[in-house]
Amino acid sequence: MVDDLPGRQADLASALEQEGFSVRLVAAGPEAQRRIDEAHLVLLVLGPAGGPSRALLQHLMAQDDEGKGPPVIALVPADERSAVLAVLRLGAEVVRTPVDPEELMARMARCIQERQRFSALVARVASLERLSITDGLTQVHNHRYFQDRLREEFRRAQRYDDPLSLILIDLDHFKAFNDEHGHQVGDIVLCDVAASLQRSVRETDLLARYGGEEFAILLPRTPLAGALTVAERVWRELGLLLTGPQRTLRVTASLGVSSFPHHAVNSAEQLVRSADQALYRAKSEGRNRICVHSSPSPLASPTPR
Ligand code: GH3
Ligand code: MG
Ligand code: MG
Repeated sequence: MVDDLPGRQADLASALEQEGFSVRLVAAGPEAQRRIDEAHLVLLVLGPAGGPSRALLQHLMAQDDEGKGPPVIALVPADERSAVLAVLRLGAEVVRTPVDPEELMARMARCIQERQRFSALVARVASLERLSITDGLTQVHNHRYFQDRLREEFRRAQRYDDPLSLILIDLDHFKAFNDEHGHQVGDIVLCDVAASLQRSVRETDLLARYGGEEFAILLPRTPLAGALTVAERVWRELGLLLTGPQRTLRVTASLGVSSFPHHAVNSAEQLVRSADQALYRAKSEGRNRICVHSSPSPLASPTPR
């Protein structure tokens, strides 16, 4: 309960305490602003225009617009029509004084319930948002999110003359792997591979499952040399990975790397196409290696295990 002069509604506070509420009396001003987050609900005893309780009300309703802070009920003298209207226009609930405690408690219960419903909805939207950008099997980002971020990062790279790199990773002979070990084991491997890739990149890099057994790593502000370092780390870590239900199986991957700026890369699509071409070359030159877009020979061609 916040008031310009705490104590004016002390009787009301003790009535609420008797009903099981835990009430703190706080003076409007800096202390109230600090303690607002502890409250489930704010009862604001409205003082004169220009006073600290009015300022606090404005502050609270601005927070409320962003879905933050506790709900607010303003207690306003019944005969102060313009104050009642001012509060309603700011979006707060009004209870006129002298207060009918039962009405007040009914309104308090409603405000708290509404806030809980709203918070549950906000949490649900956030969780759906997360789901909509996450691959269900591997829990890394999905193709759609990758495409959105790719376009955004490409625009940014063009505008600010920043480098941008892309690594495409495709597991080798994965169809045969599934045929030999079963699709379920294949799924476990895809999860392990995703986790290994995630460990090999920085937080600012974007890892996504591009397709079935293909992954993409987008590297903002990273030139070709940096992308190659990452590709080599990814390739090395995958080589060390023991996977499958008993952690006895190994997989290899082929990697294609491309970068912007490059004379043949003028769009997000061209960045993907050029990485795909490099990947295709890595496959045709024997797999389990890294190839770079428009480099005549593989920059890194590690010896197959
Ligand atoms: P390459 O070395 O040329 O890439 O050979 P590949 O067999 O990996 O290539 P291909 O594209 O012909 O086959 C990809 C295989 O990946 C087909 C499918 O069995 C497997 N795959 C794709 N998605 C999944 C998945 O979600 N789970 C499992 N277990 N396997 C998948
Ligand atoms: Mg493939
Ligand atoms: Mg493959």
